[in-house]
Amino acid sequence: MTQHEHGQGEIVAATPAGGLAVPDRPIILYIEGDGTGADIWQATRPVLDAAVAKAYGEGRRIFWQEVLAGEKAFKLSRSYLPVETLTALREYRVALKGPLTTPIGGGFRSLNVTLRQVLDLYACIRPVRYYTGVPSPMKEPEKIDMVIFRENTEDVYAGIEWAANTPEAQRLIHFLNHELGCTLEMSAALGIKPMTERCSKRLIRMALKHAMKHRLASVTLMHKGNIMKYTEGAFQTWGYEVAAELPGGVIPEAEVFTVYQGKRPAGKVVLKDRLADNLFQQVLLRPEEYQVIATPNLNGDYISDALAAQVGGLGMAPGANIGDNCAIFEATHGSAPKYAGQDKVNPSSLILSGAMLLEYLGWDEAAQLIHQSLPRTLKDGIATYDLARLLPGSREVACSEFGQALIDHM
Ligand code: NAD
Repeated sequence: MTQHEHGQGEIVAATPAGGLAVPDRPIILYIEGDGTGADIWQATRPVLDAAVAKAYGEGRRIFWQEVLAGEKAFKLSRSYLPVETLTALREYRVALKGPLTTPIGGGFRSLNVTLRQVLDLYACIRPVRYYTGVPSPMKEPEKIDMVIFRENTEDVYAGIEWAANTPEAQRLIHFLNHELGCTLEMSAALGIKPMTERCSKRLIRMALKHAMKHRLASVTLMHKGNIMKYTEGAFQTWGYEVAAELPGGVIPEAEVFTVYQGKRPAGKVVLKDRLADNLFQQVLLRPEEYQVIATPNLNGDYISDALAAQVGGLGMAPGANIGDNCAIFEATHGSAPKYAGQDKVNPSSLILSGAMLLEYLGWDEAAQLIHQSLPRTLKDGIATYDLARLLPGSREVACSEFGQALIDHM
């Protein structure tokens, strides 16, 4: 850690029941991130601090503690992800993270993927909601209000691949052809898609519990089980098994028609399943029918960005990677290096991820102030370049000015 501000702050602890014990002065870690990471962090921190101060006065305050990752870490310690950072994340449990650059092709593995796997942050959570005033390609974007729960640790992201014509690929093809009756060409590249009952079920359980807690109408299992029967198809089967373990709260969609004459009984979460390709159509044509989406890793990657575009793009989309022992809230866009240091890009993704963090702490009143001030600010025609060029009559402001405008509109 670089700054020692945490003299008066306290650790966010785990309760024996698996919940969180949040002190009024929690120490929250932050990773500034690469490229435009510093710009958006400097705009974000004052917004979060102001929301907490406005909601709770002197009663609550976040003690921010920097941990290093990415280029800043490498400059100081010759490591892109120092051991001390991982230790601190395990100990302090809650963090806000800017984007980290990943070189394409060779080089090191994505730091984002590494963080998720090492800390077992098994759910990537992306709320998708529309803020009035944000330009959207949809006719009725206000109908979109969903949360995506994407499995974060397995599927093709496990990174088990062999390049075409390597001895490893050819050895495996030989085994598959001779031992298991496959008919693969010897020149094929190969990838493995592992999916377990344990990891699928814990993700789906988290999604269902979220829907039950917030009294949402439905959870939809998004999968491609018609083609990948034993991985994605099993995801669907495991989903219904988890639902059966949660007594009283969840009913399968079929039951709505066979037992309840087509009307969802009050207080019940309906569990649906949709093939991935169909769901892409559905969220465009009938978004109001979907509240929570639970899905394997790769589908989740695609639908998260597609839905973000439907409500105004990645610059606005918040996200979090959450496990049983640690939660990292993060900007969902990349490091946009060409704008680094220009105080130009839109800080909303990190700010809204910060609002998610406040909700995770149970500080909903502070989060609400941010959710309210964003549309007010845009309504006043104040926007960063990305939105200003789409909003006729608006005034383009810098990244930091947009943060200040949000504070002024709280
Ligand atoms: P990017 O999101 O960084 O940028 C693509 C374009 O989107 C930018 O040129 C800019 O026009 C726009 N943009 C991005 N963020 C914006 C913002 N806050 N406000 C306004 N406009 C914004 O995507 P990329 O260029 O594909 O990736 C750059 C680097 O970031 C890569 O190394 C990539 O691996 C990494 N990355 C990191 C994360 C993460 O840390 N979670 C996510 C995606 C990409």
